[in-house]
This record gives sequence, structure tokens and C-alpha cells, in this order.
Amino acid sequence: MGYAIAEAALTEGHDVTLISGPVTLEPPRNAKLISVSTSDEMFEAVHRHADECDICVLCAAVADYKPVNVSSTKIKKRGAKFSLELIPTRDILDSLGRRQDRQFVLVGFAAETDHVEENAAKKLRAKNCDIIVANDVSGADSGIESDVNEVTILFRDGEKTEISRALKKNIARDLVKIFLNFATKTFDKKNVMIN
Ligand code: C5P
Repeated sequence: MGYAIAEAALTEGHDVTLISGPVTLEPPRNAKLISVSTSDEMFEAVHRHADECDICVLCAAVADYKPVNVSSTKIKKRGAKFSLELIPTRDILDSLGRRQDRQFVLVGFAAETDHVEENAAKKLRAKNCDIIVANDVSGADSGIESDVNEVTILFRDGEKTEISRALKKNIARDLVKIFLNFATKTFDKKNVMIN
């Protein structure tokens, strides 16, 4: 969805910075691409660029855990069972939501398998986002690894809107319009122009 949203925003004439982990997708031409490999690199890159943006859309499926120790040399095969010790990664969306000084609109995603709206609404509040895009990933034919999706968009004031099953690129086009509309209203209230 991130790549589709970047493409849709570029088509609408916006400047796009795309911070991406390793994927097999062709990056959209004209986006400023920042490639990262780890959740820590993504954290740093997002914080470095967030203030340049009017709207930050965080939809990467960032790993929730990372290994405590990273070996600089090859780990030799052992005969016995072997476990990796993992610690939680930093939550990038949450860290932006906590920033009191943020001027940009913050959009998160919530991929859920059950109680989709309820869980997404909790996430919206917990991570202090302006908008959460919820999608049901319980079926194999929608969401992750699929060209189609259907989403419910929840706003911080309790409003919601739905986009029914469609190609991701069409959903992305609608999402960009929805984000922009929200940003324009927010910036109008603050008397700030959108770039
Ligand atoms: O809590 P959950 O991982 O389901 O929340 C999903 C949202 O949080 C997405 O917007 C995802 O990009 C973001 N996220 C993040 N940093 C993480 C994990 C998730 O920004 N370490």
C-alpha cells in the first residue's frame, strides 16, 4: 500500500519521500527514495524527514522484535536446538504520535484479523494518530500480498469512512484525497498553507 500511496500522491503533483525496507517492487519514479534494512534505520530516517512533510503516512509492516545480539561473523551450525533472544523494536508511529510539537498530519495503518474497527480505534488513540486506515487481513484475497484491498478509515474525531474492495492503486488514489482533505481542514484551522 505504501508504494501505491506514493505513486498516487506523485500523480496528484505532491513531493514524496518514500522510506522503504527491502521489497521487490519497482520504486515510483520521482519519489525521493530512502532505502533502509532495519527497524532502527527506519526509525532514524522517519524522524529525520518527518518535519519536512505535511502528511506522514506510516504503513510499513515493521518487525515487532529484533535480536538482542547481532553476530558480525557467521554463526556456526550446532547440533543442538538453538534460540534467538528477541527484544521489542521501537514503535515509529507511536514515537511520532507522542511528539507534542508535531505540525504534520499523522496517518497509521492497522492490519487486523478480528474486531477490526474496535482494534484500529484503540490503536488510533494509543498511538495518537489523526487517521488510522484499518484493513482486515484475515482472508487470503485482500490486504497483504494481494493487489486488492478494502479499508475503513477512522478519524480522531470519531468519524469514519469506508472504501470497498478495489485495486490497491484505486484505494491509494482515494486515500490520498482523503488525507489531503483532512490536512487542508486541519491547516485551515491553524491558518497554515499546505505545500
Ligand atoms: O501495532 P501495530 O504494529 O499493528 O500498528 C501498525 C502501525 O504501526 C502501522 O502504521 C505501522 O507502520 C506502525 N508501526 C511502526 N513501528 C513499529 C511497528 C508498527 O511505526 N515498530
